[in-house]
Amino acid sequence: MSKAIQELPRTLGALRRSSFTEARLAGRSVKDELRNNLICKIQRGEALFPGILGYEDTVVPQVVNAVLSRHHFILLGLRGQAKTKLVRLLTTLLDEAVPAVEGCEIHDNPYKPICRRCQDLIAAQGDDTPIAWLTRDHRYVEKLATPDVTIADMIGDIDPIKAARRGQDISDELTVHYGLLPRSNRGIFAINELPDLAGKIQVGLFNIMQEGDVQIKGYPVRLPLDLALVFTANPEDYTARGKIITPLKDRIGSEIRTHYPSAIEQGIAISEQEAWLKRPSPVEVRVPVYFKEVVEQLAFGAREDKRIDKRSGVSQRLPISVLENAVSNAERRALRAKDSLAVPRMLDLYSALPAITGKLELEYEGELKGGDTVARDLIRGAVGKVYDHYFDGANVSPIVQWFDLGGSLKLDEHLDSATMVRQLSGIQGLMEKVKALGLSANEPDAVRASAAEFVLEGLHAHRRISRNEERGFAAGEKKREPPREEGGGRGERQVRKQFN
Ligand SMILES: [Zn+2]
Repeated sequence: MSKAIQELPRTLGALRRSSFTEARLAGRSVKDELRNNLICKIQRGEALFPGILGYEDTVVPQVVNAVLSRHHFILLGLRGQAKTKLVRLLTTLLDEAVPAVEGCEIHDNPYKPICRRCQDLIAAQGDDTPIAWLTRDHRYVEKLATPDVTIADMIGDIDPIKAARRGQDISDELTVHYGLLPRSNRGIFAINELPDLAGKIQVGLFNIMQEGDVQIKGYPVRLPLDLALVFTANPEDYTARGKIITPLKDRIGSEIRTHYPSAIEQGIAISEQEAWLKRPSPVEVRVPVYFKEVVEQLAFGAREDKRIDKRSGVSQRLPISVLENAVSNAERRALRAKDSLAVPRMLDLYSALPAITGKLELEYEGELKGGDTVARDLIRGAVGKVYDHYFDGANVSPIVQWFDLGGSLKLDEHLDSATMVRQLSGIQGLMEKVKALGLSANEPDAVRASAAEFVLEGLHAHRRISRNEERGFAAGEKKREPPREEGGGRGERQVRKQFN
């Protein structure tokens, strides 16, 4: 690739004689380029946006339509819906390399320079004008919008020293110190959280999109930039009145809604792809399917939980981090116990609480209960649901009976697998139940220990047995706990607060 670039034309004359002709490049905008390359990919049947899972039938077709329509577009969605990831993949639709006037701060097209410097340079040097090549990475700029972003950051500033030196004509571009937007000329410019941008910057953006003109400190500056603009925002912020100036909204061709995975399997596929699980380690790491299901169910449950703020959502980063933390805890245990295999257990989920609480924004009701309690409830709910999937209708009364007759078992999270299996085997009927989880007759102890513990945790989730700090698993409490209160959040003021 870099060798190929070294062999590309280095002067304007050589460029004209190459396949990068004026006829081909002078009028070809970034959006034309994205469109053309997308068309080729579709014709060749290539995968678009590799690594984006679960959007095949929803978001991807809409993004494709937006690019084909040469629109500036916005992705609207909650946290952790792969918006940024998707936007970054737009660079795969750019040419591998495009020529620019060498040394130009705004990557001028050699056939159509917009800055005075390059116009003067080409007038003076003609075909000897040096040419540089921009790769895809050079042509993607991303900016997180915050209220303190200024016109100078975004568009540019009049350089008083340059201006003084030039004297008379302050609106001359040579006196402008370029901001991010001009510096991304001929590329993709992504602005995350667009509604956080101050109104006057939005006006500046609009003017650039509309007319190629902008005012800096009251001076009109002409900047007919060639850009593909892509934005992201939280839907509530974006639709809120007054957050986006109407003419800017009007110029954004497509509004595309992203979403969380719609099925557990989809969520698992994403988390598996993103989580760091294939790690170089002296122990082998194996994550059982039911474990992944519980982790994913945890996120699904959190997204529906009324104690958690819907407007901020529950990021896909939650199950990803939980998986990573739980695996680390299993890895740590295996290393200390000198086991060769690390298999996460439900206990490891509780050690991943920091990965959960930091990612939830609680409503008032959740705030009252505390993040840890909410997280523990979520784990319990997820375990119960996945347990039902495997053990619905299964006869577990011998196990429950064993506890009812006074049995108890306190599991130490640091226990090596063989010892743990020995302890679990003492519970009548327990070890034979793990077959339902897909275990064969001679699985390693770490796998069996995790599976049997999951059964106990499932019984606990359904309150068939209890679990507490001193005794561990024991007989269920006889008194029934009152059913969880439903219907909070109506009427009373909802307070949200991030805790981490
Ligand atoms: Zn230039």
